[in-house]
Amino acid sequence: LLEPEDFQSSSQVVLRGRRFQHMAEVQRAEVGDRLKVGVVNGQVGAGEITERSENHIAMTVSLVAEPPAALPLTLLLALPRPKMLKRTIQHATALGVKKLYLINAYRVEKSYWQSPWLAEEKLREQCVLGLEQAVDTAMPEIQLRKRFKPFVEDELPEIANQSLKLVAHPVTDAPCPVDIEQQTTLAVGPEGGFIPYEVEKLQEAGFQSVHLGPRILRVETALPVLLSRLFPAR
Ligand code: SAM
Repeated sequence: LLEPEDFQSSSQVVLRGRRFQHMAEVQRAEVGDRLKVGVVNGQVGAGEITERSENHIAMTVSLVAEPPAALPLTLLLALPRPKMLKRTIQHATALGVKKLYLINAYRVEKSYWQSPWLAEEKLREQCVLGLEQAVDTAMPEIQLRKRFKPFVEDELPEIANQSLKLVAHPVTDAPCPVDIEQQTTLAVGPEGGFIPYEVEKLQEAGFQSVHLGPRILRVETALPVLLSRLFPAR
């Protein structure tokens, strides 16, 4: 995934510093290699490496297509433990989530909010990995909300306005709908699940509880399952 500042002209890219090192040492890029490329928040296409020195890599690129469409979704994710956060952000980004609120819940450990992985540039790194995986370019918008009640009472009505509102909750009778078209706001709970008070609050805000069957899944697994049921064609 290229940054706009990597471009010397509309078709010439030069990578230096950390990005050069990643391409040279991790991806072992060589002159003549062809690769899929995209530019952050722009188009996708193909590149060919034309030069590799000790401190830079040059390539020609041609950007020809739009990235895949974003999901019509706002995701509210109870902050997972740091290790799982990284993978979940990558999965969410690769699956096309563009609006994500990391929210608090009773069963989110306080220490998770101190994680260095919540720094903007660290979250962005995980998003880049997800975007590269999916050959997508649209950087998700991630917001942190450390207080559940004011978020749900004051902000959520506006955020979820006119959308289908779902909370993934194993202890409910309604199965998760399949293949929907509507704009959706989806809440996914913490490792221990949402407590009844939180489910009530979400229900008061118009959210409907849905389940994924009898198996209780980790957040990082539940999320791809939910998204592939709700939006199988995306
Ligand atoms: N024992 C917890 C409970 O009953 O809520 C399990 C929490 S689960 C590890 C973490 C989150 O993933 C849940 O809050 C829910 O949002 C989602 N999830 C996992 N399995 C699910 C299922 N079978 N149905 C619906 N949501 C599920």
